[in-house]
Amino acid sequence: MGAVVVEQLVKDFSGVTVLHNINLDIEEGEFFALLGPSGCGKTTTMRCIAGFEDPTDGTIKIGEEAMNDIAPNKRNCGMVFQSYALFPHMNVFDNVAYSLNVRRLKNSNPLKKIGVYTRMLNSKIGRYPKDIKNKVNDILEYVELQDHAQKLTSELSGGQQQRVALARALVMEPEVLLMDEPLSNLDQKLRHSMRNTIRQIQQDLKITTIFVTHDQEEAMSMADRVAVMKDGEILQIGTPTDLYSNPQSPFIADFVGKSNILDGKLIKRENDGSVIQIGEQKVKSVDSPEKDEVHVVIRPESINILDEESKDYDNYFEGVIQFATYLGSTVRYDIQVGKYELIADTVYESGDNILQHGTKVKLGVSPER
Ligand code: ADP
Ligand code: MG
Repeated sequence: MGAVVVEQLVKDFSGVTVLHNINLDIEEGEFFALLGPSGCGKTTTMRCIAGFEDPTDGTIKIGEEAMNDIAPNKRNCGMVFQSYALFPHMNVFDNVAYSLNVRRLKNSNPLKKIGVYTRMLNSKIGRYPKDIKNKVNDILEYVELQDHAQKLTSELSGGQQQRVALARALVMEPEVLLMDEPLSNLDQKLRHSMRNTIRQIQQDLKITTIFVTHDQEEAMSMADRVAVMKDGEILQIGTPTDLYSNPQSPFIADFVGKSNILDGKLIKRENDGSVIQIGEQKVKSVDSPEKDEVHVVIRPESINILDEESKDYDNYFEGVIQFATYLGSTVRYDIQVGKYELIADTVYESGDNILQHGTKVKLGVSPER
């Protein structure tokens, strides 16, 4: 139960395809991030999973059950949106109790029409049976909002509103939690602490979670696995370390962390890797690319600034320091190497010299990097 499988999902809006064959295999209890720039189709994918959009083609399974003909409220997904979508005229307690109340009324009056429920609901706000009261109080305590239960949601801070939205989703005990850019409206500091809160809750409850974001740091720091999307397609799926150390395209390399990307040509395959021509220079890599035209990605921390005599590396470059940016524990150098400007991050310890503009340097990169 709780695993989410998306197979060959296609979505068209008025003849324009915005999702092309999306495939996802999300394990039960996994924290899975969908990462990509604005407009790439993250929200549409989520809305298809939740049942708010009908797929043009493909299947969605939750807990091995095909969802195609199952209404959103029967899918057992909890949703948290960027905008929180709280009821501003209701207090925190009533917001969290709302869906429980709807479910109870529907279960006890299965034949009534929607308008009747709305009237019944409105007349019952603030007067709940004990089991609903207990559940709501428990969840409010869990997200540390027990002291705010009677406040209007409009009286709360952004972070508190976000926790109300979370409580409202969790109180229904969903199998799957879907979160669409839930932290985007918070200021930087709060965003960092909410990351930890959400991660902690997810680990406590072991709830399968799909988390949408355009912020690579957020995805990489929170998720077990990340799918990178672009233009309605999934480009690569992997653990954060996997994506960082083995990006399969320049787009991923650039989107997931800082990188130096150089154009190269494969000139020789060897047992333990390959030799690649970059400009005037030959470099060794442990990778063996399939095509001859390649992009060589070197992370800034993998470039080592060396003494003249150093012989520790298989690959050397000669460069000239352009800029040095002191960042506290590291110094970032912009270094001209032939036609490329490379970025190198070096660890800074107090008393270290910072290299000045114009200094000639020798750089080393290992074939593994
Ligand atoms: P993201 O969440 O990654 O920013 P969306 O899933 O919201 O991207 O949108 C993907 C693409 O689908 C965009 O080009 C958007 O304009 C288009 N789109 C989304 N919803 C609709 C809709 N209801 N009707 C028409 N086009 C839509
Ligand atoms: Mg979106």
